[in-house]
Amino acid sequence: MRALVWTAVGRMEIKDVPKPIPQPGWVVMRVKYTGVCGSDIGGFLGKNELRRPPLIMGHEFTGIVEEAGPGVPKEYIGRLFTVNPIIGCGHCRYCRSGLKNLCVMRKIIGIDYPGAYAEYVAVPVDNLYPVSDPVKGALAEPLATSLRAVRLSGVSLGDSVLVIGAGPVGSLAIKLLNIGGIKDITAIDINANRLEWARRWGASKTLSTTGEEALKTIRELYPEGFDAVIDAVGSTDTRRLAINTVRRGGRVVFVGLHDNETSIPGNLIVRGEIEIKGSFSYTDEDFRRAVNIIESGLLDPREGWVDIRPLEKGQETFTELAGTETKYVKIMLTPGE
Ligand SMILES: [Zn+2]
Ligand SMILES: [Zn+2]
Repeated sequence: MRALVWTAVGRMEIKDVPKPIPQPGWVVMRVKYTGVCGSDIGGFLGKNELRRPPLIMGHEFTGIVEEAGPGVPKEYIGRLFTVNPIIGCGHCRYCRSGLKNLCVMRKIIGIDYPGAYAEYVAVPVDNLYPVSDPVKGALAEPLATSLRAVRLSGVSLGDSVLVIGAGPVGSLAIKLLNIGGIKDITAIDINANRLEWARRWGASKTLSTTGEEALKTIRELYPEGFDAVIDAVGSTDTRRLAINTVRRGGRVVFVGLHDNETSIPGNLIVRGEIEIKGSFSYTDEDFRRAVNIIESGLLDPREGWVDIRPLEKGQETFTELAGTETKYVKIMLTPGE
């Protein structure tokens, strides 16, 4: 089968690789659409310690089940599904309490197993979620990531929220906040196209500055600070900005993973009793809710924020997304429509 393989830092190549064979409890799907994730871009650039080449990445996808492994009912064959790509061990304290995103033994399709930038992908049947639209369904995974960050921010009606970074995770967080009735949303990004989508999706204010300049503007607009701040970037600059702009007793959610180590104003956290919460991927419950929101028709990719390209455009797509100019919130690759 054809697959887009990440062969070295900065290099994506179309290769002919063996088609997967379904193991017991697994299925093989014919891939429809696979979203390109910021974490894949981090891998491509050699900045993600979990990913090692050669690797078929791709963990945001839909496909049609074509083969069922031993123990899987044949009824699955021919149906369209999206996939939760996280596979927990099933036995540890985290898996047992519904937090398989924290499982130490967890494996991820597209990182530990071959992913969906290919004609076919193998996945456990337990990770399938039926969907009605192959493009919308491929948005369930990034939406679930944003949904967890929004849930952990603890916001409620009437709160003010700052979202730093209007890439897929930040933009979808804005959309979810808006759906949830939060109207006082400020978005920061250096990409003007993405700020435009942030505005359309519910950001009442947008800022295209960073660092000290952004801090100065925010202090004028929100002298007390925001009730909650979601940092969907994760650099030293943005983590500091988040802590410096949240109100005393407010909550900061770190969901971006740009820099491994960053320095943060510790005494401000102590004196302001600021809560800081990490948010990593999603639980099964977050994923279920994300699928439910998509099936409710609350996201419309036909608005023009999703671009669909053939797998063969992998190299140029990854290069485009590694820059700051892209016009799209999400780009998807397909092995053939
Ligand atoms: Zn992702
Ligand atoms: Zn586990």
